[in-house]
Amino acid sequence: MSRPSRGPDPTAIDTSRRPFVLVWEVTQACNLACDHCRADATPTRHPDELTTEEGKRLLDEAREFGPGQLVVLSGGDPLARPDLTELVEYGTERGLRMTLTPSGTSSLTPETVRDLGNAGIQRLALSIDGGSPEAHDSFRGEDGSFEQTVQAARAAREAGVPLQINTTVCAQTADELPVIRDLVADLDAVLWSVFFLVPVGRGRILDPVTPERAERILSWLTEVSEEASFGVKTTEAPHYRRVAIQRRRDSTDAPQSDGIGRRLGIIAGNGFAFVSHTGDIYPSGFLPKSVGSVRKSSLVERYRESDLFQSLRDPDQFSGKCGACEFRHVCGGSRSRAYAHTGDPLESDPLCDYVPAEYDGPMPVGRASDD
Ligand code: SF4
Repeated sequence: MSRPSRGPDPTAIDTSRRPFVLVWEVTQACNLACDHCRADATPTRHPDELTTEEGKRLLDEAREFGPGQLVVLSGGDPLARPDLTELVEYGTERGLRMTLTPSGTSSLTPETVRDLGNAGIQRLALSIDGGSPEAHDSFRGEDGSFEQTVQAARAAREAGVPLQINTTVCAQTADELPVIRDLVADLDAVLWSVFFLVPVGRGRILDPVTPERAERILSWLTEVSEEASFGVKTTEAPHYRRVAIQRRRDSTDAPQSDGIGRRLGIIAGNGFAFVSHTGDIYPSGFLPKSVGSVRKSSLVERYRESDLFQSLRDPDQFSGKCGACEFRHVCGGSRSRAYAHTGDPLESDPLCDYVPAEYDGPMPVGRASDD
């Protein structure tokens, strides 16, 4: 299966019209029991999961966003669906850029990775949350997960499938980051996606890092990105852009770029959309506030026209210190974390340590105080 050519220039995407990333949670089923699981995954598939035909209709609709739409098949463990390869092929044939985030289980064999590569998968994203088998397996809740993940990573490179490594940052994993950085390089990954914990699903039982520690980690990540052979991006920590700008410019004048050459403004609902295993449309999997179901509504229309998505794309509607912040148009804070702590997605992100110079209002709800 030939893969679609490179997608549209990310800097040219109008995120009021289309998401840069569309995530479809193809199933909630997974054999792992990770401490941080957003999906509250279970061993069995939900009886009301989108069917193969419904999934294909969803992929047809994703094309309407525009050429080369990026689609991430997530879970649970997408490999729990027997039609996964069929769905990858279907999307690829229609010009979608199909990527996958499988779990590190015994299902993730080199043969499976090769089959998915042949079906047209454009990127495999694997999670590594510890720099040793002991640390990773204990976080993921299954012995052997580290070895299976590393084996799959090597298989992806051998099959010519670009590799992404995802890592969760919380108090339990933060000390592992330097070792994981070295592993990302050893595995020849193209991107390290560093996810800052949002307390949803089973992630509620973990401890977030404090804003001060998050700031130190973000600053360190900008150094890593300047030296590493791979790219670095953060998930649910858009203040990485603010930190990068401050490091580069030592100035806070109306910033228009993130200083690390990355497209701005991709946060929940603004360049990002999520479809759940039963078809609900959310701004993000970490912001589970539905604006309708793909079974009854148009995904494209809901993304462009729903009040929630429109408000998430308007930083001038944000409240608290995010609303007062001069970086709100390039950062905007994690809308998911604001929602998790307050029930209001337009509130401030409690993980950010920055306080705008003239701001004298309340500090965000949910600031962690100790690591
Ligand atoms: S206060 Fe909000 S908008 Fe400003 S840098 Fe922090 S998270 Fe971003």
